[in-house]
Amino acid sequence: MKKTKSKLKKRGILNKNGKLMAVYPGSFDPVTNGHIDVAKRALTVFGEVVIAVIENHSKKTCFTVRERTSMLKKALSQYGIEGVRVDSFEGLLVDYMKNIGAGIIVRGLRAVSDFEYEFQMALMNRKLSPDIETVFFMTDAKYAYLSSSIVKEVAFLGGDITPAVPASAAVKLMKKRSKYPVRLRRAPLLKKGNFKKRRKNDEKFCS
Ligand code: ADP
Repeated sequence: MKKTKSKLKKRGILNKNGKLMAVYPGSFDPVTNGHIDVAKRALTVFGEVVIAVIENHSKKTCFTVRERTSMLKKALSQYGIEGVRVDSFEGLLVDYMKNIGAGIIVRGLRAVSDFEYEFQMALMNRKLSPDIETVFFMTDAKYAYLSSSIVKEVAFLGGDITPAVPASAAVKLMKKRSKYPVRLRRAPLLKKGNFKKRRKNDEKFCS
């Protein structure tokens, strides 16, 4: 048993206090209630969960890494979730994990559509670092439709996103939206110029 424990510690699966440690990486642009649900589920299995915000993701983000990290921290304190730490990293996830001594990646699954990408990522990470395991948590059915992109789209168009995101993210999204208001017109009335203007606004909203 002692031998197994020290092996697990060596692989980064157990932290120095002997607790199972997992890293939940993502863009969190912004955090949604679906992300929080996955973090809470991960806590039921692992003693320590680190939410790691990706800084150099290939996709363009709406919020800076500082903003995304701060929204997450506020959300965790709003829901009184203990045992989850928020951090950020640049570069390869497996390198970051080796650096902090973690051995398990947590990811969430909503639908079959998530599977292909997640499967590819998990296999690539295993290839890069065979000691690191990826564990998936199924979302609660009520969050299955939720994604950061859909939340941003609804917010930009003036919809109510408060049931979908923690208060910290709702405030940030609404602030951003008030800077770039969209005046809705019937599509056929949009002139070419207006369309371009709206597109520019859209880019600003998420840059
Ligand atoms: P990434 O851009 O790296 O996929 P995201 O912030 O979009 O980062 O998502 C991080 C992880 O959380 C992914 O594994 C994603 O499948 C999962 N996730 C996102 N939204 C939900 C949700 N509503 N329910 C469960 N898991 C989710």
